[in-house]
Amino acid sequence: MISFQNVTKKFSTTITAVEGINLDVKKGEFVFLVGPSGAGKSTLLRLLSREYLPTTGKVIVDEIDISKLKSSDIPIYRRKIGFVFQDFKLLEDRTVLENVALALQVREIPELEIAKEVERTLKLFEIWERRNLFPRQLSGGEAQRTAIARAIIGKPEVLLADEPTGDLDPQTAWSVLQLLGEINSWGTTVVMATHNKEIVDAQKRRVITIKGGKIIKDRNEGKYDLH
Ligand code: ADP
Repeated sequence: MISFQNVTKKFSTTITAVEGINLDVKKGEFVFLVGPSGAGKSTLLRLLSREYLPTTGKVIVDEIDISKLKSSDIPIYRRKIGFVFQDFKLLEDRTVLENVALALQVREIPELEIAKEVERTLKLFEIWERRNLFPRQLSGGEAQRTAIARAIIGKPEVLLADEPTGDLDPQTAWSVLQLLGEINSWGTTVVMATHNKEIVDAQKRRVITIKGGKIIKDRNEGKYDLH
């Protein structure tokens, strides 16, 4: 499903964010990406979402070399990818319902169908009662559930999450993780960058450790261990 083939990303002659990355993620996998701050985790996610182009090497998704996409094909490619961030990145002047609906309104989907799908998703994520609130009126957990609803409502094949529990209290962090696990059980591939040792150690999932832009460890049922 995802294949990094000898990928290096340099931002300048002196800044190499990731170097010589070789990594395969199968369809339906759930993987944690761990490593110290500045290790290159966000860069890897942004190479996958095609925000960044590799300096050298290839990023292949569904057998397509995504650096070769024409700019007109990038929006279509991005439908495959949902992205969730630490700071939610919700539109502050839109309600919960509008934030989530917008993800479908940019496509040619009939309004009635959008309304049904938004209602189903908000109910599933237990934020239907909050649908007319604005992001600043939400708790951190509600904001992150809204952001995840927005990311997955278009049924992406891959969900990328960059420190999605970083700003949440432990209990809320667990509920977000449970939600990501559920989304993964529907068949969505999940790649989550995190510093949350407790969560990583409790999950017994594949853990890829990156340090100084290189993969130093890749273990099934791995632990959060940066050494
Ligand atoms: P992490 O997500 O593991 O904290 P990042 O991928 O954000 O790490 O960063 C890896 C390295 O690349 C850091 O040295 C960072 O400063 C640098 N970097 C990341 N994005 C940019 C950018 N847009 N321009 C210049 N340098 C960047």
